[in-house]
Amino acid sequence: MAQAGSEGGDSQGRWTRPWESPSRPPGRRAFLRFAAAAGGAGLLASCSRSSGSSAVSEAASRTASPAGPQAGSTVRAVGASSSSPPSSAPPSSADWTALGHDLSGTLVRPGEAAYNVAKRQFDPRFDTLHPAGIAYCRDPHDVSTCLAFVRKYGVPVAARSGGHSYAGWSSSSGLIVDVTRMAGVNVSGTAATVGAGTHLIDFYNGLSAHGRVVPGGSCPTVGIAGLTLGGGVGVVSRAFGLTSDNVTSLQIVTADGLLRTCSASSNPDLFWACRGGGGGNFGVVTSFTFATHPASEIILFFLSWPWSRAARVISAWQSWAPHAPDELWSNLHLAAAPGGSIPSIQVGGTYLGSVTAASRLLEKLYAAAGSDPSSPFLEVSPSWLHAMLVEAGCASLTVNECHLPTQNPAGQLSRASEYAKSDFFTKPLSSQGIGTLLSGVESLQRVSGAPGGAGGIAFDALGGAVNRIGPGATAFVHRDALFQAQYTTTWPVGSASAGVARQHAWQQSFWQSMRPYASGQAYQNYIDPALTSWRQAYYGANFSRLTQVKGTYDPDRLFTFPQAI
Ligand SMILES: Cc1cc2nc3c(=O)[nH]c(=O)nc-3n(C[C@H](O)[C@H](O)[C@H](O)COP(=O)(O)OP(=O)(O)OC[C@H]3O[C@@H](n4cnc5c(N)ncnc54)[C@H](O)[C@@H]3O)c2cc1C
Repeated sequence: MAQAGSEGGDSQGRWTRPWESPSRPPGRRAFLRFAAAAGGAGLLASCSRSSGSSAVSEAASRTASPAGPQAGSTVRAVGASSSSPPSSAPPSSADWTALGHDLSGTLVRPGEAAYNVAKRQFDPRFDTLHPAGIAYCRDPHDVSTCLAFVRKYGVPVAARSGGHSYAGWSSSSGLIVDVTRMAGVNVSGTAATVGAGTHLIDFYNGLSAHGRVVPGGSCPTVGIAGLTLGGGVGVVSRAFGLTSDNVTSLQIVTADGLLRTCSASSNPDLFWACRGGGGGNFGVVTSFTFATHPASEIILFFLSWPWSRAARVISAWQSWAPHAPDELWSNLHLAAAPGGSIPSIQVGGTYLGSVTAASRLLEKLYAAAGSDPSSPFLEVSPSWLHAMLVEAGCASLTVNECHLPTQNPAGQLSRASEYAKSDFFTKPLSSQGIGTLLSGVESLQRVSGAPGGAGGIAFDALGGAVNRIGPGATAFVHRDALFQAQYTTTWPVGSASAGVARQHAWQQSFWQSMRPYASGQAYQNYIDPALTSWRQAYYGANFSRLTQVKGTYDPDRLFTFPQAI
């Protein structure tokens, strides 16, 4: 087994992943690095550098008497009246200007210099969207003011944290309520209170300064709010559960403009819904409080085999990864390129424990696969933060550099385009299923796609702590899967649309071919506009309770989008 500085080390001795070679197509977690190397214009709505304390400080002026959905719940009036009479006319320019004056944050409007950056989502596909305004809210009071405005004028509204919605649904033709100025991590004992606009790399950085860990996703520029509200699967989820499983309370401004605290004892129905019910449905979350875990030693491993071994490796991985001790988490990537040569197969993962114990577990995988990996790599990470930088594709970057330039002046990452679909698998793939999977990946080679395009499938092992929580205990229903899968296809910014459309068609047809083998459930955080059965697929038996919560807190459906509850 190679150690850091041998295979995988670059010329300066820094660690690189075995599949970082540009001759190979990137996997999902590697693609950001490729995008960064491509040097596109990485722009996203600016994030603030607000401190954690200001991020989580409330503008609450008084504690209202228990009213509204659940008597006894914490409800605070924050600013603008919830009782302004509706206007029969759309807002005038002067009304928008007045809104801007009412905010302690900033309102950006079409025609202003900052607009083209402010309206951008992570995916340049959505640059065609033109919101009427982007409000960078500094506190819950600002959020409440925005909601009073959209209620009064009937303006569509969407909350935005990291802007990574695969459907662009954190944008709107009306007002974007951007929470990135409510960012920061405040650790006190074993609890961490986190502003809803915190990007994941800053989340890990803030926690790691206190030797604490909360499970979360790999992409450094994803927002904590979108991730947590839809679940949050990450590299230590088998040990510590989903991001949403670690929330102990949250603050949310609901459609009536009130700031509510949600926890097991305060607005418990809304608390339940906000842990897996999906972003954008119930209000605008302004902060989360998480239970944290001590940061122990973490080992990273990356392995690859020749494509000719793929069937054996898949068979071995699916019997190994979901049933391993909780300390082991692993994923499996199959990737190809349109018009490319042979696809690639890689297994990556983390282990919380000793090298000896990790190696012993990996040997079991090799034995089941019938061969050792051709490119094995194992590293004892010098720190949790380093591990999360590696997983983020920022192994050779600082935390500041591991951002979009608009999030941090030192940021070196770029925006990227991607189509994504997902599945959960509750049964191991049969040999026929593995054959279909391999054919699906290989068929991308025959697609006339965008030059520099790529595609594939990434499986994340589940089981462990994720599956020890009941499907109805939180709104995240997917508690019996062995692994989940994400089908992706990517292309360089500015690619011709015909090639992109052919890659998209390939992805849809690949996903279709896997119908006989998947459970029919889909991950609500990989939101998929093409999914017609989304209610059942995302929420299963929890959908009906979610609609009740929606009816209680947002009876007029102020918060809506094509797949809104
Ligand atoms: C490159 C990439 C990598 C990813 N990696 C992972 C991963 O490793 N693990 C994983 O689990 N997921 C992953 N995801 C999926 C990700 O969790 C979802 O796309 C998530 O919704 C993004 O959150 P966001 O805040 O960045 O996005 P946004 O687009 O800002 O928000 C997503 C949704 O949440 C709503 N929302 C945003 N902020 C708030 C708020 N404050 N209150 C209420 N609603 C709000 C929005 O209106 C929208 O509907 C990845 C996505 C991408 C694009």
